[in-house]
Amino acid sequence: MSNAQSTARQPRIVIIGAGMAGILTAIKLREAGYTDYVIYEKTDRVGGTWRENTYPGVACDVPAHGYTYSFEPNPDWSQTFAPGPEIHQYFEKVARKYGVTDEVRFNEEIPECIFRDGRWHLKTSKGREDVADVVIAATGVLHHPVVADIPGLDTFAGACFHTARWDHRVPLEGKRVGVIGTGSTAIQITSALVDKVAHFDLFQRTAQWVIQIENNFYTEQDKADFRTRPERLKEEITKITGFFDAFANAVIDSESAEMKEIEKSALDNLENNVRDPELREKLRPNYRAGCKRMIFSPDFYEAIQHPNASLVTEGITRIEPKGVRTADGVLHELDVLVMATGFRADAFIRPTTVLGRNGVNLDDVWEDHPVAYLSISIPQFPNFFMLNGPNGPVGNFSLIRIAESQVAYIMQLLEQIRAGKCREISVSAEASASFEVERGAAAKKSIWATGCKSWYLDKNGVPASWPWTPTRFFAEMQAPKLDAYELS
Ligand code: NAP
Repeated sequence: MSNAQSTARQPRIVIIGAGMAGILTAIKLREAGYTDYVIYEKTDRVGGTWRENTYPGVACDVPAHGYTYSFEPNPDWSQTFAPGPEIHQYFEKVARKYGVTDEVRFNEEIPECIFRDGRWHLKTSKGREDVADVVIAATGVLHHPVVADIPGLDTFAGACFHTARWDHRVPLEGKRVGVIGTGSTAIQITSALVDKVAHFDLFQRTAQWVIQIENNFYTEQDKADFRTRPERLKEEITKITGFFDAFANAVIDSESAEMKEIEKSALDNLENNVRDPELREKLRPNYRAGCKRMIFSPDFYEAIQHPNASLVTEGITRIEPKGVRTADGVLHELDVLVMATGFRADAFIRPTTVLGRNGVNLDDVWEDHPVAYLSISIPQFPNFFMLNGPNGPVGNFSLIRIAESQVAYIMQLLEQIRAGKCREISVSAEASASFEVERGAAAKKSIWATGCKSWYLDKNGVPASWPWTPTRFFAEMQAPKLDAYELS
């Protein structure tokens, strides 16, 4: 710690959430000489989404070497797209190594954050009160499961659960399993389960575009090379980052040549890898590839053509004790019913009650749709910063890289407080509003706005994401433009 840092004011900082972004924040705060901080975590383990999602086949569809903290490379990733448990272990290991695990208050949720008399007053689920200068919400995006409201759901006689609440006590071998939904989650489950169960029904409301992508195992030689030759590991990371940057550049312009190439690749996969013409037509989406989140899978089409598998495209009319009844009158008998029906993507820190200056309620501010300047700061919520907050870069690129750049940016705002230049800092209403107008206009030109339904869209149908290039995002994150902020 430098002298300047040791004599500067130590703000008290609360981090909410011990997932990827919370662990990262704690590491970076300590590194920058902050000593008065704590992490509240609602469950008993670190790892966020990787702790919560344990469904068969769970994996990250961003290649592992691109989904790794930059300061903690992992030469031991087993394959291109690492399985979920391996990713979870990585986060647990990093949290232990950097002493973060000991700084977490586990099983302590934050139901309330109120800004009063210049500080944040927090209540915890254990009845404790905490008063902080700064709150950093590292609460994740996709963690409020949506269970489809289908008539008769509670009458089903077998086991029924959401993918993020997988019940591992329920045996699957020899059982008839049905999965509702065809998002990234359902596609991974399909590949993992078709040959392990007696029968597998995939209930598809909307077909998906799928790009075939290899998922190779790294050899022991590869791993040894990654360990001993940093330039080889760097090469691997650069290759992956380049691929995802190219994808992110393409999707923001629905008419770009690169976007057309991506669409062709998805179309080729469908045409070349689905043999039965009738099944091929059922799997053919009626919207442009990339409009919904693109699915990358080495083998989904192969899995859905397995003799055990059926793709059910008739609409679901109701759930009955024995299974799922579809509009053609057929009862699809099942032992296990899985809801792969996604998440509420607009909750962010909610249901926590967050009241800013003069009691302004975050729920009211976000009544139309969640907004935040650069996805980080909200007017009238001083010293309250979000990681992977509203309208940030989403869509098949590494949230770790995004969070790292956001933490570095927030750290520069915190420095204003620590250096005594202000006590409170939040984006101005004008800067936030003009950012949101510009963002919304650009988002309408992206592939996400070309006529499909997805969790990328807010309730007005506008893509809730960063609509510009990754280069622009990372440039913005280099240094805050302080004239966009109110310092007091
Ligand atoms: P999702 O993409 O939101 O998909 C939900 C699926 O459920 C959709 O197919 C939807 O159909 C269907 N559905 C919802 N309600 C229904 C109803 N009442 N009847 C019939 N079908 C219904 O959710 P997800 O698959 O869990 O994925 C969410 C996000 O998590 C992904 O986009 C991705 O960002 C992330 N994820 C990432 C990975 C990874 O490898 N990195 C893996 C899994 C998930 P419609 O399309 O017709 O609405």
